[in-house]
Amino acid sequence: MSSTATHGTDTLRVGDREYQAVIGLEVHAQLLTRSKMFCGCSAAYVGAPPNSNTCPVCLGLPGTLPVINRQAVEYTVRTAVALNCEIPEFTKFDRKNYFYPDLPKGYQISQYDLPLSRRGWLQFHVDGEQRRCGITRVHLEEDTGTMYHAGDVLQSATSSLVDCNRCGVPLMEIVGEPDLRTPEEAREYLIWLRRVLMYIGVNDGNLEQGSFRCDANVSIRPRGSDQLGVKVEIKNMNSFRAVHHALGYEIERQRQVLEQGGALPQETRGWVETQQATVSQRSKEYAHDYRYFPEPDLPPLQLEAALVERIRGELPELPDARAARLRRQHGLGDYDAGLLTATREEADTYESVVATGVGAKLAANWMLGDVARLANEHRLPLQQSGLGVAGLAALLRLLEAGTISGSVAKELLAELYRDGGDPAALVEQRGLGQVSDAGALSSLIDEAIAQGSKAVADFRAGKEAALQSLVGYVMKQTRGRADAQLVNRLLRERLGG
Ligand SMILES: [Zn+2]
Repeated sequence: MSSTATHGTDTLRVGDREYQAVIGLEVHAQLLTRSKMFCGCSAAYVGAPPNSNTCPVCLGLPGTLPVINRQAVEYTVRTAVALNCEIPEFTKFDRKNYFYPDLPKGYQISQYDLPLSRRGWLQFHVDGEQRRCGITRVHLEEDTGTMYHAGDVLQSATSSLVDCNRCGVPLMEIVGEPDLRTPEEAREYLIWLRRVLMYIGVNDGNLEQGSFRCDANVSIRPRGSDQLGVKVEIKNMNSFRAVHHALGYEIERQRQVLEQGGALPQETRGWVETQQATVSQRSKEYAHDYRYFPEPDLPPLQLEAALVERIRGELPELPDARAARLRRQHGLGDYDAGLLTATREEADTYESVVATGVGAKLAANWMLGDVARLANEHRLPLQQSGLGVAGLAALLRLLEAGTISGSVAKELLAELYRDGGDPAALVEQRGLGQVSDAGALSSLIDEAIAQGSKAVADFRAGKEAALQSLVGYVMKQTRGRADAQLVNRLLRERLGG
């Protein structure tokens, strides 16, 4: 990582010394399994009446025994291979002991010294530059319940409520190496990690609801040093923007503390969105505080090589590889290829439109332009709109064949997106076919010239732009059906001659 990178320098100044930030991210991602990690309760807790999705196992009642969710193990293996991790043959679960009201068992089943995977990496991009961040480990654990506080959490809550519906929902922890140096890198790493998890179908990527959440460890050290500074952990960030702002704030706060000769304690701080600041929550726990020990109620797991290989073989093409292929195959630029592969649905849509014979660049321009705008306006993706993927392909083929003009295509797109219908039938029914016959346009060209004497004079005096009002007249008279390029050429011939 170079300090001359275009996205801004990673150099900090403390007095006359150069420092740099060191950032490592821990992501917790809920798995899209139907049932919870160790019991048969539904994992779909969002919107369920409080404490309705519970049983003696996930409530931690004495005498109950957990059973490992096979799908959750397979999803974690899928994630690990997608992140280029090694998968040891042998893995086990451990108890992490701590008291908190949202943890009725008094411990969380997690993984300590023998995680399901380790030593991987994620490739991502920052302003078109490729980066790679190490993945320390991906392990499997269970989520806790949810607390609801009446009043201000940080001041004085008047009462707190516990909902155990989320207790025991399968949760992956993806620990990244401290390879990141700037808030921008951290944000892009998260965007690409989320993209991978959604591509492989293990997580829904919802930061707002907390099914994809992130804690950040950040410290600063003299540039060139290979020692890590005392790290501060930041919590409570539930958007990419929050992660970016919180890291920016925290790096500057630490720099100022050092500049004033202060010391930085190891602690956990919370990001407070309304104050745009991190505030100290508690001194940081160490692993020994949790009294980890092997979970006595679960057998260790032996992962057969054949299972891992089957899961590896079933991996879909990942976003980075897919963007590279679209660039190669269709001559797309970096930026467009990145946008078109942001989700698997978007990339599938693009490729299925192109597969019907629509030009790759034309399809890209429409999808990233008008279609994206309409999807945003209606808060409805193309796939669920009246138009649908097949409708878009049909409309673009009509445009490409010259059957309809660009402005008719634009109008139809908006209407079909909302109401649905068959593009070709509509063109036929309403007589929207493009007028691209010089003979048919000839009298309209005469009219345009007759009514636009000022524009004609301006054009003849060298004002190129004046021609547009004459073209506009013809387009208006044909309700957008005229071939604009042909009108342009005919006008030039007539006026130039
Ligand atoms: Zn349960």
